[in-house]
Amino acid sequence: MTRTVFFILSALLLVQCKTFEKDITSPYAKQDNAKEITSTDSTISTRPKLVVGIVVDQMRYDYLTRFWDKYGDDGFKRLIDGGFLMKNCHYNFMPTYTGPGHASIYTGTTPKNHGIISNDWFDKFNNEMVYCVDDETVRSLGTNDKAGQRSPARMLSTTLGDENKLFTEFEGKSISIALKDRSAILPGGHTADAAYWFHGDDQGRFISSSYYMETMPDWAQEFNESGKADSYLKMWKPAMPLSSYTESGPDNNNFEYGFGVKSTPTFAYDLKKISETETGYDILKSVPFGNNLTIDFALAALNAEKLGQDQTTDMLTVSFSSPDYIGHNFGPNSKEIEDNYIRLDGQIARLTDSLNSKVGKGNYTLFFTGDHGAVNVPSFLKTKNIPAGYFDYDKLDDDLKNYLGKNFGTTELLQNVSNHQIFLNHAAIANRNLSADKIERRLQNFLLSYPKIHEVYTRESMLNGQFEDGTASRVQNGFSQKRSGDIMIVLQPSHIGGNRRKGTTHGSPFNYDTHVPLIFYGKGINRGSSAAETNITDIVPTMASLLGLSFPNAATGKVLTEVIEEN
Ligand code: ZN
Ligand code: ZN
Ligand code: ZN
Repeated sequence: MTRTVFFILSALLLVQCKTFEKDITSPYAKQDNAKEITSTDSTISTRPKLVVGIVVDQMRYDYLTRFWDKYGDDGFKRLIDGGFLMKNCHYNFMPTYTGPGHASIYTGTTPKNHGIISNDWFDKFNNEMVYCVDDETVRSLGTNDKAGQRSPARMLSTTLGDENKLFTEFEGKSISIALKDRSAILPGGHTADAAYWFHGDDQGRFISSSYYMETMPDWAQEFNESGKADSYLKMWKPAMPLSSYTESGPDNNNFEYGFGVKSTPTFAYDLKKISETETGYDILKSVPFGNNLTIDFALAALNAEKLGQDQTTDMLTVSFSSPDYIGHNFGPNSKEIEDNYIRLDGQIARLTDSLNSKVGKGNYTLFFTGDHGAVNVPSFLKTKNIPAGYFDYDKLDDDLKNYLGKNFGTTELLQNVSNHQIFLNHAAIANRNLSADKIERRLQNFLLSYPKIHEVYTRESMLNGQFEDGTASRVQNGFSQKRSGDIMIVLQPSHIGGNRRKGTTHGSPFNYDTHVPLIFYGKGINRGSSAAETNITDIVPTMASLLGLSFPNAATGKVLTEVIEEN
């Protein structure tokens, strides 16, 4: 006992003497000492006050480069100049849709593990189509209809936010915001304090669900009463003279839908008129002002919830849904898309300005990406002799029934065709003592006879092989043993489902859909860029490593070590 006390006292004295000694022997000694401690701490982890995740719905990588000259200094350029740009980041699975995209960004794994195989999918155990975030067990908040009956219950693994909650004893706040429900709910994970999404129609309000809380907080109700949404029901004109938009095609062309109330898909668009005659507040989802409204609400949350105001790391995840609606409507080569990105750049500047003043430069870490890309309008590509086209899934449904009837004596074997997948009726197969594997292989050969079908994979090949690269691996990473179908179809490059000759979509395993921007910025992030091949699933392992968190429980991505500052 005495010995121990003596030892501690001696040690303390020694430390004091050493400090004292250093103080008088070298003017730099104390500084060295301080630096050493900082270095050890930040080698273990970087704990910013706030982590901000930003996703832009349907942002192709080339929107950064193509419109670069039009961007200001404080938007995308500030993030890229001050942070780390990954130039070759891809979705490593199909289908490249919003639900799977957001889930994969934040869980660090693919549909194979997190289970969000599409936005809507056929639930083969209950024989019904389900939506990725619907949940009838919870109540709507902020509206009387069912638009709030949503939760992340169908997502099977944890997110970066969930791991931050566990790490901080649930002290770190976590708020998630988007116009689309799934784009708010999936990034927030299972433990978010709140996710908010926009209810258009005749409501024009941000809403939520009882999954998160009992009632909408006062600040959110005040926001909804503030008239913000109404203030954006105005004219949508180009932000700069249209003649300066030299990076996109003509405003009036045959490849755009536009809005019904106007005879041509051309500027300017009278949003008040469209809202009154066609869409209600949903029009705000389909125009760049939807991005402004999203940031307005995010900044209201930042203030009211005091995000990033103490030493415990909070999370704010924001997804911009409007660019997706604009892309579907007008296509990647449109003036409307160029205007959207010029305006979004200004909104990114507004967001980072606010973060710098409210949370403080150097106190937050941000990452920025897209949830998938999009193909150029196939009918436009065809006019330029690029192989492209449309595949009629309705006709395929009929063809499959005919084929199965002719070859196996019944049309009952076909249960569902959705998301480029075919679900067979396994009860009917068993009743007739047929072999599912044999039917799959016959269908595979039958489907390959279609010129517009590129590849066909069977459930058996998914279960029994391991594909390392190419489309096969992307199909496999998107394949959930429990939830996916029996046949997976990959259309030829630049081919999409449907028969509409205008607008575009996404979902394929090809580069126009998989290649998205990836930028890291802020505390603990190196400055630089890299063209090294990166997967979307690498984002949260990198962030978890920086933050010193456990990786989300099913994460499969790798840490991008070049992004993280070494001390
Ligand atoms: Zn999307
Ligand atoms: Zn146009
Ligand atoms: Zn979309």
